[in-house]
Amino acid sequence: MRCLVLTSILICMLTATASAQQSLDAMIDRETASLLATYKMLHAAPELSHREEKTSSFFANQLRALGYTVTEGVGKFDRAEWVGHGVVAVMKNGDGPTVLLRTDLDALPVEEKTELPYASKVKTKNDSGQDVSVMHACGHDIHITSMLGTAKMLVQLKDQWRGTLLLIGQPAEETIDGARAMLKDGLYMRFPRPDYAIALHDTPDLETGKVGYVPGYALASATAVDIKIRGLGGHGSKPEATKDPIVLAAQVILALQTIVSRENSPLDPAVITVGSIHGGTRYNIIPDEVNLQLTVRAYKEEVRQKLLASIERITKGIAVAAGIPNDRAPIVKVSETEVTTATYNDPALTETLAVAFVKALGQENVIKASPIMGSEDFGYLSLDHQIPAAMFWLGASDAARLRQSKETGTPLPSLHSSLFAPVPEPTLRTGVKAMTSAVLELMKK
Ligand SMILES: [Zn+2]
Ligand SMILES: [Zn+2]
Repeated sequence: MRCLVLTSILICMLTATASAQQSLDAMIDRETASLLATYKMLHAAPELSHREEKTSSFFANQLRALGYTVTEGVGKFDRAEWVGHGVVAVMKNGDGPTVLLRTDLDALPVEEKTELPYASKVKTKNDSGQDVSVMHACGHDIHITSMLGTAKMLVQLKDQWRGTLLLIGQPAEETIDGARAMLKDGLYMRFPRPDYAIALHDTPDLETGKVGYVPGYALASATAVDIKIRGLGGHGSKPEATKDPIVLAAQVILALQTIVSRENSPLDPAVITVGSIHGGTRYNIIPDEVNLQLTVRAYKEEVRQKLLASIERITKGIAVAAGIPNDRAPIVKVSETEVTTATYNDPALTETLAVAFVKALGQENVIKASPIMGSEDFGYLSLDHQIPAAMFWLGASDAARLRQSKETGTPLPSLHSSLFAPVPEPTLRTGVKAMTSAVLELMKK
């Protein structure tokens, strides 16, 4: 008898879940045309980081029209001429948890080459006054549109959740200073502090209709480092009268490779890449200096600190060995602005989301993905893991093209590529469904 009762409760629950999913699907059906139009409009009108003026005001107005209490202009940057275009939208719906959803708003200085009818033709001047094209080459337009769709669903489903929703439109993700700018402007003081923070990011590595999740470290911290190697210049025919910074730079670059291979534990992922080297002007001149630019990636903060200390020790040590005088020692400068923390997906929250995604999208559409050494600034919103946070991947590639790419070994255009082109409709539908289901799970009555 007991068994029978339990079975019928279970059947009842499953039926309820199935019908909730059907009605969510029907609700999304009704919005699809308008979501597509919004996406194409945003895609054709991208704005660079720190300049998200029109995008943020569109985003704010849409949320205001849905009944959210919206504050614009949130964000304080280090440079006074940069306006904070952050948006915070709040909806209170009784007692319950506070859940933050984040979308980024900015685009990239990339010239779009997709030839899609809604491709961006936008050109502008960058901060250095150079003419650049602008493209949503990271798919932040997918994120914005998914957020707007989710915001609408949650208004319509208000009787199914309780608590406070905090939707934020974050500027300047690509320059990794937008999340910090919003926190610096009192994000968690002027507005309710969240119990959970969630974001999604589109990816060409997953087919559209699917989502991916990574418990624990998902994206690495990134730190920019400048090294100025100073020598004593002179005539190229008379090396004995000089200290050649070009040879020193070559030694430094090779020696830096031993940090990851010989000093770091193989169980702690780390990357040191020298992405730029500049020195010298002519065949027969030994220059006075060579400048290197590095990116340093790691998951754990202690690993990052160790990598940075080793970079400085090795660089300075090689200069000493070459007889560079103390007053010409290399200058190693760790950037305080071109830096971002790792994205750590709280394991318990991530599992909760994965369960919600399976219910909403089906087991076959929810993939446990691998961490990557790319970076994001979403991690700052967790205040050093104090607030459980999770970012999940939203598949954006056509299934047949992805299969073909795997078979032939020819990769599809990646994020930031001038050819990156997510398949809009199923990607947006899945983004809205996944995000709405995640919120309903965390805030259910
Ligand atoms: Zn990006
Ligand atoms: Zn991005």
